[in-house]
Amino acid sequence: MNTKDYIEIEEKFGAHNYHPLDVVIEKGKGIYVWDVEGNKYIDCLAAYSAVNQGHCHPRIVEVLKNQAEKITLTSRAFRNDQLPLLCKELCELTGYSMMLPMNSGAEAVETALKAARKWAYTVKNVPANQAEIIVCSNNFSGRTISIISFSTEEQYKSGFGPFTAGFKVVPYCDAEALRQAITPNTAAFLVEPIQGEGGVIIPPDGWLKEAFDICKQNNVLFIADEIQSGLGRSGKLFAYQYEDIKPDIVIVGKALSGGCYPVSAVLSDRSVLGVFNPGDHGSTFGGNPLGAAVARESLKVLIEEKLVENSFELGKYFIEKLKSISSKHVKEVRGKGLFIGVELFPEAGGARKFCEALMKRGILCKETHTHVIRFAPPLVITKEEIDYVFSQIKPVLETE
Ligand SMILES: *Cc1c(COP(=O)(O)O)cnc(C)c1O
Repeated sequence: MNTKDYIEIEEKFGAHNYHPLDVVIEKGKGIYVWDVEGNKYIDCLAAYSAVNQGHCHPRIVEVLKNQAEKITLTSRAFRNDQLPLLCKELCELTGYSMMLPMNSGAEAVETALKAARKWAYTVKNVPANQAEIIVCSNNFSGRTISIISFSTEEQYKSGFGPFTAGFKVVPYCDAEALRQAITPNTAAFLVEPIQGEGGVIIPPDGWLKEAFDICKQNNVLFIADEIQSGLGRSGKLFAYQYEDIKPDIVIVGKALSGGCYPVSAVLSDRSVLGVFNPGDHGSTFGGNPLGAAVARESLKVLIEEKLVENSFELGKYFIEKLKSISSKHVKEVRGKGLFIGVELFPEAGGARKFCEALMKRGILCKETHTHVIRFAPPLVITKEEIDYVFSQIKPVLETE
């Protein structure tokens, strides 16, 4: 079977909820992937930052295999010997004192929203069913009905109502609007420290800190959705660490498993996660020993291979190089660490055709928000490899 055959089968039997580039990948290693025709590519998307540790990292795969042969799922009707250690190691790494494991990012966001609401009723004494959560325009936190209920993206919502009540939207990076939106019933403010799906939007320095201070003044929980920006992507362990703040809740997913298994978690302290009692919330697969073992190793790889530092250093290097391109198409190059967006002018006709041209040159990336190309390679990339990627990007941006 060739590329065309696979695409035909998928188009026929799979629902069309994505518009992928027409490359059929059959294997990967580090920053590289190979398609079914044997063509080799450099992956500059890293599965939306789930593969920060690189594809099929040998240490993570080894743990996955070993754990798969021992025990994969106990459900939380019983305990297992991996979850406690993941809880401890993730808390020690991040400076929080409690965590709650889930699987997908969206589930972890839902969990954080439930925790914030219950905290509002049981700690802040908000009247029953009156809790409000403030979010930002242009947000992305997943695809469940409650999460799309506060999306400002028309397509994410269209056809999926009725929506969950209790959310208010303020413009991203507008501290005054946040201040105005807060009422005595406000439970939490949910924010991405860098908006990934929104187009790699980097807030101005100081805004997160200002928003954090406003939340503290009003007894409102500050929730950072670090599912994409976290675990090294931004050049820090968490993107919020560019400011002097400590969110009440941090949500992680994606790279928590190095792309080897769906693992997500909500991090906080006893004062918040302590609101959950047995039976309040759960997930059959959440905290399973296979996912927990994989996540433990993924975190170790991130730290021991100094991937956060590599992201910081090489991100600066890559951004400087991209800024040196003189192209009539490029409106702005922005980023933190290896979390980079190249925004094109609308006259360029959309980022998709540039991604397709890059694919022909062996570089895989994906447009986000029509006019932005996101460059977010696995954090194991080297300087020489960035030089090579750049040598392919430059002519595409200059001549297409
Ligand atoms: C990807 C993402 C999510 C959702 O994660 P899923 O695993 O796809 O459910 C939530 N928030 C942010 C910021 C994300 O990038």
